[in-house]
Order: sequence, then structure tokens, then C-alpha cells
Amino acid sequence: MSQTLSADLKSLLGSIVDDSNNTLEWASSDFGRLMEKRPKVVVKPHSSEEVSTILKYANDQDVPVSTRGEAHSQTGQSLVEGGIVLSSRGMDKILHIDEDNLTADVQSGVVWGDLVKEADALGLVPRVLTNNLGVTVGGTLSMAGLGVASFRYGAQGDNVLELEVVTPTGDIVVCSPEENQELFDLARSGLGQFGVITRAKIPLRKRANENRTYILLYDDLRGVMADSKTIMGDGRFDFIESWCTPLPVGLKTDDGRRRVFGEWFYPLHVTKEFVDGKPPRDDEILEGLSPYRMCHAENRSASDFAFRLEPVFELWKRGPYWGSTHPWMEVVLPWDMTFFYIDTVLKKLPPPMLGGGHILLWPCTGTTSNIPLFMRPKGEFLMGFGILPGIPKDYVEPVLEALDKASDAVNMANGKRYLSGYINFTHEKWKQHFGEKWETVASAKKKYDPKGLLNPGFILYE
Ligand SMILES: Cc1cc2nc3c(=O)[nH]c(=O)nc-3n(C[C@H](O)[C@H](O)[C@H](O)COP(=O)(O)OP(=O)(O)OC[C@H]3O[C@@H](n4cnc5c(N)ncnc54)[C@H](O)[C@@H]3O)c2cc1C
Repeated sequence: MSQTLSADLKSLLGSIVDDSNNTLEWASSDFGRLMEKRPKVVVKPHSSEEVSTILKYANDQDVPVSTRGEAHSQTGQSLVEGGIVLSSRGMDKILHIDEDNLTADVQSGVVWGDLVKEADALGLVPRVLTNNLGVTVGGTLSMAGLGVASFRYGAQGDNVLELEVVTPTGDIVVCSPEENQELFDLARSGLGQFGVITRAKIPLRKRANENRTYILLYDDLRGVMADSKTIMGDGRFDFIESWCTPLPVGLKTDDGRRRVFGEWFYPLHVTKEFVDGKPPRDDEILEGLSPYRMCHAENRSASDFAFRLEPVFELWKRGPYWGSTHPWMEVVLPWDMTFFYIDTVLKKLPPPMLGGGHILLWPCTGTTSNIPLFMRPKGEFLMGFGILPGIPKDYVEPVLEALDKASDAVNMANGKRYLSGYINFTHEKWKQHFGEKWETVASAKKKYDPKGLLNPGFILYE
């Protein structure tokens, strides 16, 4: 590797190259705070041409590069030791919103919240939004991007018409289902392994002005599953999300230790869009559902709904949660194994292990996504499940051990891990994760990035 990395890059790219201590410190960790990798330099390109210059240089000089959006992934997916961090946040322009064709052309470092605000002013909205709108377009397209409308529209990666990708050797390629499809299929859910996404064309839809949300509560998992299936099947609501919420009830002996244990409840939030100030009739829209209790109903603007979790994130940021380690473990389960898997895990999970975080339960359809590298079980319905703890670093080890066991059990339940969280896979487990797609992944890596310089160390190819 060149001894003069920063000097070389500065002479090629000028002020977008930064090797100050503060910046290197910033780029050394991610939201997980579980690992540190210190780069030698951070570069914040504004264009695909600058990205190409960086990747050509890195390829000539054998320098590893990681692409970093907002680094909300949690086990070093966007980190690199001793190389270049390519921050996409310099590419933060919404280039064009086409109101006739209902599309948005954006640079990949745009955060979804900025696109939502600009589209909302025109009465438009992207079809699928993640809960956290402070992450980048490139970052979620590289994972999948799941949201409360995924049961209808699939992942964000299913809702992209065209990408511009800079390959590891510096070629700027426009790809879509019609043109350079192989790269299009590798870039979506590709974890930045096969190129840097620099631009995306995203379809928008006309949105209704208002939403009505119903907060239903269930006291058993089978009940919330049954009603979720009904709701997804008949499409009476536009958005669906759920949680597993513990009520600590006492101590019991488990594996020879006295532990706090809880009874679990399942809030289900279902939302319907409406126009002309005419909300749905509550008795009609809730007909046939059997919650333990209907807790609340409320109307909100479309924009308030999109940003509905901001107050939770604000609270997290103000308290100790945000600065803690975040070994989040998200999984996608086949419907027929959901009850067994979640019931078993929740019985073993002492509520204090969450440390202020929560557990997501995400009913979804299994037929709306077609992204080749987004690994998910087969079936008409699927369940997303995410344990999202925030743990002080000194206490995280036993939590990681418990999560490793829960992660191994996912495999036995024929489920798949979602790859933004705490991933502790061996080479064998990576092969298992990608299953019949492993050969595609391994051979594409050799083809597009033969020196293995892009985002090294996360997927273990050997
Ligand atoms: C509070 C919170 C809430 C969340 N909610 C959801 C949710 O509702 N649904 C959901 O699906 N996920 C959710 N996530 C996970 C999050 O969406 C993913 O971790 C996403 O990848 C983060 O985007 P980012 O910009 O931070 O990407 P980063 O973490 O910076 O990068 C993620 C991966 O993408 C690669 N990458 C980033 N940009 C590019 C690019 N331009 N080209 C190529 N590769 C690139 C990186 O190299 C890395 O491998 C949540 C995370 C947090 C912390």
C-alpha cells in the first residue's frame, strides 16, 4: 500500500480528502459500537467521477475501501482498517423529481427524510420507507430496506428503477432490469461488495393527505399473527407494524440462576390513508379483528406519519441508549415456524436484556420482493422479528452469547438473518446464509473486485 495515501488522494481530489484525527475517529465506528476499524483517510466525493477516481487509485495501489452512508449498520459493514472510507454524504443532492412520471432521481448519499420532505410538498411519497429516515438511499438499497408498507410493495430495493454504480475498478455503469441487469442485481442487497451506488431513480406514488392509525393490543402471539394475516390478506390497511413488549412479572429459576421473567404483549399498529377529511369508520375497518384491547386511534398528516418514530429516536439520543452498544438481531422467519421460534426466544429472554431497546415484530408478505441477494424464506407470509438492545459496553458479552444462540436457531427454523445488525458469521455460516446464491456471490466478487478491496472483512469468502 502506498505510504503517501492522503497526499496522493489530496493531489488527485483536493479538499474532499480528510485525514484529521477527529474525522478518522468519527469514521472508526458505527451505530453498533461493537467494533472499531480505523481508516487512514476519509474521502467525501460529490460525483460519480470523483468516486471513480478514488476506486481507480485504490485498485492501482491495492488500498481497501469501505463505502459509508450514515453507518447505522452495526458490525463494521461500513468500516475499514487502514484504508479509505468513502463517505457517500457528499453526494446528497435530490437531482430531480418528475411529477408526471412519478419518479425521483437522487444521489445515493441523500437521506430518506430529505426526499420525503421534498416529495411530500408535491403530494408524493416513496412507496416504502424504513422506520428511521436518517439513513441514506445507498445504505438501505445495499441492505434491502424494509418498512411498514413492505407487505404491499416489497423492500426499497424492489422499488428502484435504475441505479448508477461505480465498479471497484472505476467504471461508471448505469444499470436497471433492462440494462446491465447483473450489476443491478448485485448492487441491491449487495452490502457494497460489488460497487458504489452513486445515483438511484426511485418511483413515487401520490399520497393521501391523512392517515388514521389504530393501536391494538394482543395478549398472545397467535392472536396477533392471525389478525395480521387477515389484514395483509384483505388489504384493508395501508401500513402494518407490531412489537413484542414485556411486562416483567417476577423472578424464576432458569439454567440454575434466578432471572427476571416477563409476560409478553403484542401491540399492533395499523394505519389507513384517507382523503377529503373522510376517515374510515372504526367499526367497519376493525370488523372481524380480535385484539385483547383497542387502545387508541388517531389521525395524522402523511408527513407526521412518515416521521412517526422521530420522538422515539430523540428520546434514545437524549438518554444512555444511543451511546451504548447495539447488538441488534433482526431475522425473517417463515410463517409456519414463527410461533415456535419467537415463543422459544421470548421465554429465554430476560426483559432487562433489552436495556431500553425494544423488540420488533414485522408481519410481511413473502411474494412482494424479488431482490436476488435479499435472502428470505419462501412462503406467502413471512414474519420479521428484531431484538434491538442497547447495552453498556462492559455488559455486552453475555448478551452477544445469547444472541449468537438465537441467531443459530434462526437457521434451524429455516429463517434468514437481516444483515444490517450484529452478524457473527463464520465462512460456513455465510455459505449457509446465501445458500444456492453463494456461488453467484463468490464468483461475482472475483469478477468485479478480484483484489477483494471493497468492504473487506464482513463477508468471509474463504
Ligand atoms: C434506529 C434504526 C432504525 C432502523 N430501521 C430500519 C427499518 O425500519 N428497516 C430497515 O430495513 N432497516 C432499518 N435499519 C437498518 C438500516 O436501515 C441499515 O443499517 C442501513 O444500511 C443503514 O443505512 P446507512 O446509510 O446508515 O448505511 P451504512 O450503515 O453506512 O452502510 C450499510 C451497508 O451499505 C453499504 N453502502 C452504504 N452506502 C452505499 C453505496 N452508496 N453504495 C454501495 N454500498 C453502500 C455499506 O458499505 C454497508 O455495507 C435501522 C437502523 C437503525 C439504527
